[in-house]
Amino acid sequence: MATYRGPVCRLCRREGLKLYLKGERCFKESCAIEKRNFPPGQHGQGRRSKIIGYGLQLREKQKVRRIYGVLERQFQNYFEKASRQRGVTGENLLTMLERRLDNAVYRLGFASSRAQSRQLVGHGHILVNSSKVNIPSFQIKPGDVVSVKEKSQKVSNITAAVEMVGGRGVPDWLELDSSNYSGKVLTLPKRDNVNLPVQERMIVEFYSK
Ligand code: SF4
Repeated sequence: MATYRGPVCRLCRREGLKLYLKGERCFKESCAIEKRNFPPGQHGQGRRSKIIGYGLQLREKQKVRRIYGVLERQFQNYFEKASRQRGVTGENLLTMLERRLDNAVYRLGFASSRAQSRQLVGHGHILVNSSKVNIPSFQIKPGDVVSVKEKSQKVSNITAAVEMVGGRGVPDWLELDSSNYSGKVLTLPKRDNVNLPVQERMIVEFYSK
């Protein structure tokens, strides 16, 4: 699957907030937002202009897309599916993004960022209900058990990430068994479980034009 390969701190600076794209560094003083919280580019150091209307809707969409590391076409597909489901479209959209396997692996703390988690899934380190699943966008459901393959439990990136998860915490809809490198999906994630500074209503307005 194609992914963004450019400098990720630039994306946070563009949105003006931490998107936590770089793992451990995001919690350190060396985080680019701590040092240079102005938009990237030649004119970035000027005052941030006030964004309204379409610009605001666009920024909210880009923010969510970047947090989950999803490209435009795929994001549109999520939106179309979300709008066909019952309930509130914006919440359906966030729920679907949360249910991605790469996100669950990150939320369980087996990776320090969603990018790293996508790589772990793609390289076959992750099992769902004891079977290898190497599709980052795979949708997990209640009752599924997500685990790290036994042989992969000694991979240094994974052990380091598991040590770090204590500080980040695991959301209520997942249950972590860190000694066995596994986690169970207890329920479907709800909007309250998605602790992101996002106004999903703006995204719905963006695509409803
Ligand atoms: Fe964003 Fe993390 Fe880079 Fe900070 S270190 S700017 S939070 S990706």
